[in-house]
Amino acid sequence: MIESANQSVTFDSISLTVKREDLVHPQISGNKYRKLKYNLLEAQQRAHTTLLTFGGAYSNHIAATAFAGKKYGFKTIGVIRGEELKEKISSNATLQYAQECGMQFEFVSREAYRQKTEPSVLHRLQDKYGTFYLVPEGGTNVLAIKGCEEILTASDAVFDIICSSVGTGGTIAGLINSAQAQQKILGFSSLKGDFLDAEIQKYTTQKNWELMTDYHFGGYGKIKPELITFINEFKEETGIPLDPIYTGKMCYGIVDMIRHDLLDKTKRILVIHTGGLQGIQGINEKLRRQQLPLIT
Ligand SMILES: *Cc1c(COP(=O)(O)O)cnc(C)c1O
Repeated sequence: MIESANQSVTFDSISLTVKREDLVHPQISGNKYRKLKYNLLEAQQRAHTTLLTFGGAYSNHIAATAFAGKKYGFKTIGVIRGEELKEKISSNATLQYAQECGMQFEFVSREAYRQKTEPSVLHRLQDKYGTFYLVPEGGTNVLAIKGCEEILTASDAVFDIICSSVGTGGTIAGLINSAQAQQKILGFSSLKGDFLDAEIQKYTTQKNWELMTDYHFGGYGKIKPELITFINEFKEETGIPLDPIYTGKMCYGIVDMIRHDLLDKTKRILVIHTGGLQGIQGINEKLRRQQLPLIT
């Protein structure tokens, strides 16, 4: 079982401990590795030879699944949102990497992507690629949560507050299930909307958690210059790189809450760095086209 290191840092005289799940693997984002682990074992047990999953242009989950397929001997199919990306594989770092790992792509329109789990769509994919083990978008299912329950270890019981970024809610559900009753788990949503509370409740019965919904910067994948500035300052001062989709927004939120006395900085705070750094290159290409400051 992989255990990642805890690193104590100070940012703007705020003391934090960062669990470096991002260092678990350079391409497989920390939590995506956790989420795949038991799904791969299940696929093996059911004698599947192909994994099929879904994702967007910069998806950490697509990169992780492609790598895992190569490493553990599965064929991988990635259903990718956006038909226009078909012509852009070579200029998209994430897709390029996934392809090098052997992933085959099925590019679909945004409209078709919304219907990706309809039985008729899955049947068509099966006709085309043969039977497959389906890994859900973002990788979240019961087995994924079981994997995320392995992020916290016994020595983490000393922390008062555990912070995580939230996409589909799978990672935080695992953290909640494995945390101590006296610990509080704070989730920072990287998407707009308040459907996530219900998503998380599907996977846990614990109540010692809360979702922060003010730090999505306009929605999933939306980036503002002040977020980039923060990410660059955080790295400069702590040496820890953050991604702009998840961990950057979470750390911005933690610091902002402490500055506004919404979070007590004398508490022992553990910040889960879920990784996502593979996406930076692609985001920087986009920022460059928009002539915005880059992530350094
Ligand atoms: C996918 C991802 C998340 C969100 O995880 P969920 O389990 O979907 O909530 C957070 N951080 C990073 C870096 C991710 O890649």
